[in-house]
Amino acid sequence: MELLKQRILRDGKSLSEGVLKVDSFINHQLDCQLLMCIGVEFARRFAYTRATKILTIEASGIAPAVMAGYCMGIPVIYAKKAQPCTMPDALHSHVHSFTKNKDYDIVVSREYIKPTDRVLCIDDFLAYGSAANALIDIVEQAQATIVGMGFVIEKVFQHGYDTLRNKGFQIESLARIEELSDGKIKFCD
Ligand code: 5GP
Repeated sequence: MELLKQRILRDGKSLSEGVLKVDSFINHQLDCQLLMCIGVEFARRFAYTRATKILTIEASGIAPAVMAGYCMGIPVIYAKKAQPCTMPDALHSHVHSFTKNKDYDIVVSREYIKPTDRVLCIDDFLAYGSAANALIDIVEQAQATIVGMGFVIEKVFQHGYDTLRNKGFQIESLARIEELSDGKIKFCD
């Protein structure tokens, strides 16, 4: 997605250890126009999937997922990092965050993912694939079907895609980064 790539080049910051900071437009301050374009692009790429729900993880997956859900006319569920007392029947999975260097559990209420659901998973980044695999685990526990996975930014050199590609659903990343170093950002295509 050219608009996104240009914005990453303009405002993204390549930090040490393979981390890209996009806090000024995606992760902290939100550029709503850009996020709506991201939603439109996800909706276009996954139009054929007949998805009935979008699943993401709080907090940074919510904005792109909501835009996609709005464009596709389907609800968005976000996995929470703590189980509230209002959620008695929760599905659990486990994520290792390399940006925060810690492990945490995610929970989703069983109420909102039924075996008949066709679920599109969306997140802001695909790095090593831990968050994406936790979302897959949740959907499988709910006995629903995953129809696709969409990422705003994929860091190809961290190989998360390799942990997902044999699972039989479509995977789309709107900007694919081959290399992050010394303030330099290089895209795959
Ligand atoms: P993974 O689980 O694929 O290793 O990492 C994906 C998750 O970690 C995403 O939900 C995202 O929030 C966070 N993440 C991974 N890499 C980056 C990065 O380079 N920059 C930012 N801002 N977040 C990242």
